[in-house]
Amino acid sequence: MLGLILALLSPPLAATLDPGVQGAPFSIWAARLEPPEVHPERAQGWDFAASLFQRVDALVQDKPGVIQAELIGRSVERRPIWAFHVRDPGLPVERQVLVIAQLHSLEWIGAEVAVELLERLVEAPPRGLRVSVIVIANPDGRWRAEEDLLAGRVHSYRRANAAGVDLNRDWSVNRESDVIWSKLPYSRRYYTSSPEALSQPETQAIDALAQRMPPDAFVSLHAFGGYVEIPWGGVYEPTPDHARLMAMGREMAEAMPNRPYRTIQLNHFVRWFRALGCEIDHFYEVYGADAFLIELTRSGLRGPATWKDYFRWYNPVDKTEHVQDGTAAVQALVRMVETEVTLAE
Ligand SMILES: [Zn+2]
Repeated sequence: MLGLILALLSPPLAATLDPGVQGAPFSIWAARLEPPEVHPERAQGWDFAASLFQRVDALVQDKPGVIQAELIGRSVERRPIWAFHVRDPGLPVERQVLVIAQLHSLEWIGAEVAVELLERLVEAPPRGLRVSVIVIANPDGRWRAEEDLLAGRVHSYRRANAAGVDLNRDWSVNRESDVIWSKLPYSRRYYTSSPEALSQPETQAIDALAQRMPPDAFVSLHAFGGYVEIPWGGVYEPTPDHARLMAMGREMAEAMPNRPYRTIQLNHFVRWFRALGCEIDHFYEVYGADAFLIELTRSGLRGPATWKDYFRWYNPVDKTEHVQDGTAAVQALVRMVETEVTLAE
């Protein structure tokens, strides 16, 4: 309720909400968004955030009992951060799944998967559990990437939020490196996390949601690589649940209709790599969630002519198979959680 009042009182940048308006704030907000008439990625089927949110709003308006929008917080520049909760309204909620997308500005494929997932879940809501989906977790970064595209700035690299913080390194667990050479002046920069745990409004909003609705399973959608990753990201040792999480990750990958991704512990690409303070370590340790990070796509890069087109690194010309694969993987996880539900008939 407080969030709703704040939503009505504070001045968002992307659209204005009038105090006292009737109806759901999300639908009002979404209706006022104006997707650009033309943009460089339209022919490839990539939508701007405005179009993605309007697709979600069609669901919210069509099935209000099944999917509900919630304003969970605001970004550094006061853009709204929305969560969409899907459940079967006729059944009690016994389990919680949290899916977040686009912590990183250029990784639009994650938001595409998140919206496709919502469309499929609303068609057939899982029984006895709630799936909460944050389609764009870093709206300021996304907005900058959209401005870059419209202005033709293909060489502009974007990752962080508006305060310059990498939101993939702003969580509370495994923030300090165990790697001895991380202390050396030259290599120290490869072993950094954010200034302090949950230092940004975006990560605070997501964690506050998790405190209210503790997730049993968690997925963060990134790009690129073609991997389903499990904790730890910040230390090399396996978690006590390593074998079980690997099996779950493989089941997610095997559900992909095209070319299944590999399942791997996050920091095991390279012996000395560490993702300090990353979100899956946080959700695994703090909430006991089965936590996964999916690196969608295998890079859209094709040939030297495009090597500095950073949008294309993360978002291939043809997104179809990766939207299918990413969505199927998350759906497989939802089904695994669903089997734990013991609904009293
Ligand atoms: Zn990423």
